[in-house]
Amino acid sequence: MIENKLRAAGCVFAEDEASILISAARTTAELDDMVNKRVAGFPLEHILGWAEFCGLRITVDAGVFIPRRRTELLVRHAISLAQSESVVVDLCCGSGALGAVIAVNLEWIELHAVDIDPVAVSCAHKNITGTNGHVYEGDLYEPLPSTLRNRVDILIANVPYVPTESIKLLPPEARIYEASVALHGGKDGLDVMRRVATDATLWLVPGGHLFVETSERQVPLVVEIFALSGLTPQVVTDEVLEATIVIGTRALSQLP
Ligand code: GLN
Repeated sequence: MIENKLRAAGCVFAEDEASILISAARTTAELDDMVNKRVAGFPLEHILGWAEFCGLRITVDAGVFIPRRRTELLVRHAISLAQSESVVVDLCCGSGALGAVIAVNLEWIELHAVDIDPVAVSCAHKNITGTNGHVYEGDLYEPLPSTLRNRVDILIANVPYVPTESIKLLPPEARIYEASVALHGGKDGLDVMRRVATDATLWLVPGGHLFVETSERQVPLVVEIFALSGLTPQVVTDEVLEATIVIGTRALSQLP
């Protein structure tokens, strides 16, 4: 029985995973192949080719970071502060899941998503469709058109934030099967966070917001980084989602 096979291989949610695989497979040969991959350790979402995120089915190609349930917190707050015609930038976009959900909820936004990994960029193209979505390959702000400077209302960045020391503690699904560039945040996990925050006020409109996800332990440092970068930080946590986000707001008017 598939469920037992999955359980024996260490899948905690064997029953749910078995029924998902059974409904996704078109033939018994395909089902066998999927189960064997799962038993070998491939993440369920990479086998299926999609992940559910905020009620949307997001395409997740092999190697691409799988959107986490906890990131719903960031998306929910970004949507609540966005308006229908907001300019939204999604840095470190991975599959493009965050921007895709925001675009579905606020139909007229102008979305610009960036990732450094060409595999992620090609995946994001599949999830971000329509005339108001643009996907770029490059390092953080570097590929964005300069016309976006001082114009971004909502800047979201689920940056890699795992400290070097903690990489070995990640489950194998993440450590082996997701791009390490999507996880490694350097010594204290905040290398990319610092770079995103430092340049945020060049791109945000006055009063615009930067949203990042972080770990509880990193909060004091992130708050400091935001403040040093000219952003007023606000921390939001959600115990159910086990999520922490920091929202940084650019002042409405800068003193001369
Ligand atoms: N392992 C972290 C998580 O599951 C990685 C998130 C990240 O680095 N963006 O949320």
